[in-house]
Amino acid sequence: MLAAMKLEGRVAIVTGAASGIGAASARLFAAEGARLALVDLDEKGLGRVAADIEGRSGQAITVAADVSSGSQAREGVARVMATWGRVDVLLTAAGVSLGGTVDSLDEATWDKTFAVNVKGTYLWVHHAIQPMIAAGSGAIVTVGSQLAQSSLGKNAAYVASKGAIASFTKTIAVDHARQGIRVNALMPGVIDTPMPARSLQRQADPEAARAFWKQRHPMGRIGQPEEVAKAALFLASDDSSFVTGTLLFADGGWTAH
Ligand code: NAP
Repeated sequence: MLAAMKLEGRVAIVTGAASGIGAASARLFAAEGARLALVDLDEKGLGRVAADIEGRSGQAITVAADVSSGSQAREGVARVMATWGRVDVLLTAAGVSLGGTVDSLDEATWDKTFAVNVKGTYLWVHHAIQPMIAAGSGAIVTVGSQLAQSSLGKNAAYVASKGAIASFTKTIAVDHARQGIRVNALMPGVIDTPMPARSLQRQADPEAARAFWKQRHPMGRIGQPEEVAKAALFLASDDSSFVTGTLLFADGGWTAH
């Protein structure tokens, strides 16, 4: 007998869906039966992911948006409601990591990091949770980082933003638990996506830095976006029906030592 699909009939919004963890999660959610609203700044990347999903008989709409814009978040959720009339899952994977220690970090870098990572998470949760409250159900998955618990330094705004996302996730999980909405955070380790590739370019010796990252994980390697997508699917689906307000580390053991 075929296993039932885990997101059959559901509508999922994924921000940061053009690349990396967001794209891998969107593809997996679609393979598990969800209709996808793919949100990102990168329109070409969105088109590629939507084509992949549609090529496998899935359904996807693309929403080119800056997640730090309140009007774009409101309009994006309104478009999903106009198209499918419901929102069951929200995964907020859009993010930026710009590097820097606090002594040299400029105000614009701090503001951009918090605008995209923290405000972008707040805005999409704020708008997407309204139809979830009306329906009495929903699953929200935010994206923090293993660095919020155990940082290597040299990325002060990013690490602070991921700590904010972790705290935000827990407190809104408390607020909305009785409304049938679960809210959890994924905390990935270093994952093979364009984001750490860009961070490597800022290092004096990128190859040495990459080797260090690998061995810093007890598993001795970095992760793949598809591995994080499976954790996202767990938190987005009924498999995690009694899980809310948790931080799920998919980090190859990074934070265990
Ligand atoms: P990624 O491949 O760079 O994907 C992030 C996506 O977000 C990109 O498509 C990016 O578009 C988009 N984006 C950036 N700013 C945006 C904005 N203002 N509005 C809309 N979209 C925006 O990175 P990733 O590794 O998959 O990261 C996904 C999430 O996982 C992030 O929150 C990241 O902090 C977190 N994370 C990643 C790692 C890792 O090692 N990869 C580890 C821990 C946590 P552009 O490319 O056009 O900027």
